[in-house]
Amino acid sequence: MAGATIDEIRERNDVVDVVGGYVNLTKAGARLRGLCPFHQEKTPSFMVNPEKQFWHCFGCHEGGDVFTFVMKMEKMSFPEAAEHLASRAGLTFSRSQRTPQEETRRQKILRANIEAERFFHSILNDTRGSHGLTKWQERGVDEGILQQYRLGYAPDSWDSLWTYLQRHKTSADIAEAAGLIRRRNDGTGHYDYFRNRLIVPIRDVQGRVIGFGGRALGDDPAKYINSPENEVFSKRAVLFGLDLTSRAISEADAAIVVEGYMDQIALHQYGFVNSVATMGTAITPEHLSRLVRYTRNLYIAYDADSAGMNAILRSAGLFEEQEMSVRIVEIPDGLDPDDLVRKRGAESMRQAVDSAVSLVDYRIRQAIRQFSENKSAGRLSEDEYTAQMILSAVPIIAEIVSPVQREALAVKLAQEWCSPDLQRVTRAAEAIRREVDMHRRRRTRSEHAGSTPHSSRRPQPTAAQRPASSSESPTISMKVRGIVRAERDLLAAMLQRDILPDLLEPLRPEKFIDPQDREIAGWLTRQVSAGGEISVEQWLGQDTESAKSDDLRKLVSELLVQETSFLKNEGAVDDRVRKILDYWKKKETREKIENLAKRIDAGETVDSEEWNRLQFPCT
Ligand SMILES: [Zn+2]
Repeated sequence: MAGATIDEIRERNDVVDVVGGYVNLTKAGARLRGLCPFHQEKTPSFMVNPEKQFWHCFGCHEGGDVFTFVMKMEKMSFPEAAEHLASRAGLTFSRSQRTPQEETRRQKILRANIEAERFFHSILNDTRGSHGLTKWQERGVDEGILQQYRLGYAPDSWDSLWTYLQRHKTSADIAEAAGLIRRRNDGTGHYDYFRNRLIVPIRDVQGRVIGFGGRALGDDPAKYINSPENEVFSKRAVLFGLDLTSRAISEADAAIVVEGYMDQIALHQYGFVNSVATMGTAITPEHLSRLVRYTRNLYIAYDADSAGMNAILRSAGLFEEQEMSVRIVEIPDGLDPDDLVRKRGAESMRQAVDSAVSLVDYRIRQAIRQFSENKSAGRLSEDEYTAQMILSAVPIIAEIVSPVQREALAVKLAQEWCSPDLQRVTRAAEAIRREVDMHRRRRTRSEHAGSTPHSSRRPQPTAAQRPASSSESPTISMKVRGIVRAERDLLAAMLQRDILPDLLEPLRPEKFIDPQDREIAGWLTRQVSAGGEISVEQWLGQDTESAKSDDLRKLVSELLVQETSFLKNEGAVDDRVRKILDYWKKKETREKIENLAKRIDAGETVDSEEWNRLQFPCT
């Protein structure tokens, strides 16, 4: 079967579907809008034009077509992206025939993982794997989940995977890099890393196997082991299950975050599809920027005493920064979510989720727990008890940025602790306010004392933002910017084929003042006069030697996504054409005046008629 062409691959991969796999897109007129995956933002400035199959971010000015998106998102070369999109559409694309480029090490590792997954999973139907299948069944994992997650088993043997991999042409170097085998100490070869373990393939959001988790079945002291970190596997970034659950998370507008893959698998099976697992680490900024594409509402169901939970309690600022609402799910009786649903059913998990408390409430509850014990044991008077609780809660309340929320919490706690005695409630609320204010003032002072100036992290202006001429005086460059804006309106209208270039006469391409605009206008005009199709993708030609610059691609994508509603106003096109032509007329006049002035300086006599005509070019 002959390989697909680039155009065929493009045709079969709708940019809306591909981008939609990473970004939650909502309709905005004829365009779609979402949060940009390439820069941090809270209000969406990432736009997709479904008709032109282009995308562009008005925040960071990235943009392009479906290939560019995959290249940026997956950090792939063009041939890699083409291959990826081809297989996504069920096409074949042979990179070797196009670019005789070596398969990257990254891809070799991914391929080794696919082979290993096939081995671990298919062995369940084999006598060597029946023990594993029984163990999965004993854990209550049903057939559907077993298939969906392609769960598996590593037999109790030193070399069954390694033998299999060798038969399937995986080199020792790559299998070792993938963390599937290890080198023997005596240098006589390799042995399997996962032995006598239930195997859970770990996938990225695209569904590619990037590593494995192994749960010991024997008496191995390491109950859980994971693939070591490598080019494709980073524990900090991975959210287990997200490839299967991102849609459910979007739809529910909430994600349940658990600590282990066994918990996530169990929740999924029991109907909590909108769940993901971190890999036993804390929730990282990488996790949050991934999750925020689907929801801002997190339900954290971590083990109460775990290191991960402690880290979360200290991460309040991180969540607030991302405008995430975080609730803590308390699982009763020290169970984990896996045990809870399997032993007590989905309903008990549902109740735990429904009674989840905010992060602040949870922290305060933790902080005051000891005092309520002391009080009930009669070691504290009522007033001592209240004072202790206020002092413990103050640092937590003081961290909240919003003054409204601080006040609401102060009142709520005072009521909780001192009701029904109204006088005591009022006094307690005042005490909390006073202490919180003092705490915040102290903190601000110490921050200022040791502060370093923040470095400016504003992105560099790109071609699309930069005025065409930055060396001119501010007023002139303002004017130039206005003209460039007019040029780009016209180019956007032409690229989106609302108007044809010959309607712009007498505005010839060389009249565009910005060099990039000129290049685009020139190409459009040539294209139309040759009676050709306007195929921007081919012109940009990112897969060829003659590929246009990155800046030009970004500009074109912006123009393709930009609104062209100005066309509705009568005379809008003519106004813009005139604006550009006026610029040249004025420039010409200015030059003539300078010329005349020079001639006068040089002692020449100048015809006064000529002079007057220039000063008043319009009369
Ligand atoms: Zn962006």
